[in-house]
Amino acid sequence: MANKAPKSARKIRNLVIILGDQLDEQSAVFDDFDKQQDAVWMAEVEDETTHVKCHQLRIAIFLSAMRHFRDLLIQQEFSVHYHELKTDRRHDSGFSHADVLGDFVEQHSIERLVIVQPGDYRVLENFRQAAAQLGIELQIRPDRHFYASLEDFQSYADGKKSFLLETFYRHMRKRHRILVDENGDPEGGQLNFDHDNRKPFGKYGPGKLPARPDFAPDQISRDVIAMVGKRFHDHPGSLEDFNHPVTRIQAQKLLHHFVKHGLELFGPFEDAMWSGEPFLYHSLLSLPLNLKLISPQECLLAAINAYQQGQADLPSVEGFTRQILGWREFIRGIYWLKMPDYATLNALDQQYSLPDFYWTGKTSMACVQDAMQNVIRHGYTHHIQRLMVLGNLAQTLGAHPLDFHQWHMAMYLDAIDWVSLPNALGMSQYGDGGIVGTKPYCSTGNYIHKMSNYCKSCSYNYKEKTGENACPLSTFYWDFLDRNYETLKDNPRMGFAIKNLERLQKDDQAITGIRERAQELRTQWGVTTLKSGWRDDSKPL
Ligand code: FAD
Ligand code: SF4
Repeated sequence: MANKAPKSARKIRNLVIILGDQLDEQSAVFDDFDKQQDAVWMAEVEDETTHVKCHQLRIAIFLSAMRHFRDLLIQQEFSVHYHELKTDRRHDSGFSHADVLGDFVEQHSIERLVIVQPGDYRVLENFRQAAAQLGIELQIRPDRHFYASLEDFQSYADGKKSFLLETFYRHMRKRHRILVDENGDPEGGQLNFDHDNRKPFGKYGPGKLPARPDFAPDQISRDVIAMVGKRFHDHPGSLEDFNHPVTRIQAQKLLHHFVKHGLELFGPFEDAMWSGEPFLYHSLLSLPLNLKLISPQECLLAAINAYQQGQADLPSVEGFTRQILGWREFIRGIYWLKMPDYATLNALDQQYSLPDFYWTGKTSMACVQDAMQNVIRHGYTHHIQRLMVLGNLAQTLGAHPLDFHQWHMAMYLDAIDWVSLPNALGMSQYGDGGIVGTKPYCSTGNYIHKMSNYCKSCSYNYKEKTGENACPLSTFYWDFLDRNYETLKDNPRMGFAIKNLERLQKDDQAITGIRERAQELRTQWGVTTLKSGWRDDSKPL
């Protein structure tokens, strides 16, 4: 803690708290901001980099974006109080938001704290507790960045026993009049164009891909990179690829670049993978969207405009719309509807830890190795690598769903609790027992073979499920179904897989071989059962 100083003479009416993922000039905290009476407070704190041991690039991008936003506000003559992390921890005036805020409040006369709803339940609770301890009112304002407010989602959910993305997406398209005609019917006569999308690249691969726009680090970013490289040198990931937007102008540049060069082929190849190609036709917009540097409305307007100008086909534009207006909004709605209990769900009672290669990338599985190189280097993989490679393997080997989420939170640049938790614990690990997805997303190596070129160069054989050369994804897939047979056997969407499993279970030798090989792999990979009662207060990373 810093030495206690006398209270400053200036009285602050509203102390506006801005978090690292709230870098939005249109935020509700500015609605009644009075530059004479109010002030902004922003803080870089150790706790937010270590509650899960964050990827170095994730820390650097967040801090650089925060510092750029701070400077923008200062240019506009806002009074900004900013706590910077320095290389030497001894300069910190506290470990957590609550510590640093407490210190500030001791030195200033503050009437009220104002914040927009944080994107993390834990952070919201921390501020509530801090304000209560400090005896200051905390005003929490709605996050207007989304199409659906929390109340909108609540009233959509009222009376529903289960939630389907498809129904929610239809509702959102009509309600916000997006890609619908005047009668509310979908553009092109159908709500989704999935049958036109989800293509593999074929044996010649993706061909010439769009180049990424260049966001070379400026002095602010270079200072942050140098600090993070020293202070957080023992954190996972690399700092090499600092080529992401950290300002609103850069985020707009990324959006326009994507609409011009990526959108046209986004839809057809949404699910395809290719060795050494991390980005393909994906937008990379999740990071600036989640930092609130750009809004979902701007993203959809730009894509729909391209369609109307004949610069992109409907299947691609619909696919992109579904991700942003459908999935992104749905996921956020579920998070706030179900927290805090959601984080404790573990429907399949999975208790294993993740193998070390989720941090090091050292594995002979070609698909996992490629995905992990992207995680380590870029803090990014596209959706199918997250879901069907890294998520699929974690789920089928039996990883604890919260362990997987915490790993994801640490390693991905775009991970904020509201979006990582329902995607990682829910969609990917089926920890929520079917709230987000109607069945577990799992497959054998055959799916990877169909959608990528990985299996050709892999030392494992995707067709084999037992023996030393067997593809681990294929072994674990059958072992997973076998272990969870009782829970999954009546799921109507699992019918085909369960029938095949039952056939396999009749062959004693075959099913025993799978169970033994699965256990052998876990042992080889150092996978252990997590201590019983493991919960989010543990620090597995
Ligand atoms: P694109 O493929 O270009 O998609 C366009 C946009 O759609 C994305 O930028 C994103 O904003 C939105 N989107 C697509 N799918 C989803 C979804 N399921 N949930 C929310 N938004 C979606 N996305 C995050 O933003 N943060 C996360 O922490 C996150 N965790 C995930 C964890 C797992 C295990 C899985 C399977 C998915 C997760 N996603 C998450 C969703 C998705 O994988 C990423 O949004 C996407 O890969 C980001 O890359 P992109 O911007 O190039 O996306
Ligand atoms: Fe991945 Fe299995 Fe294919 Fe190897 S054989 S690349 S482990 S799916």
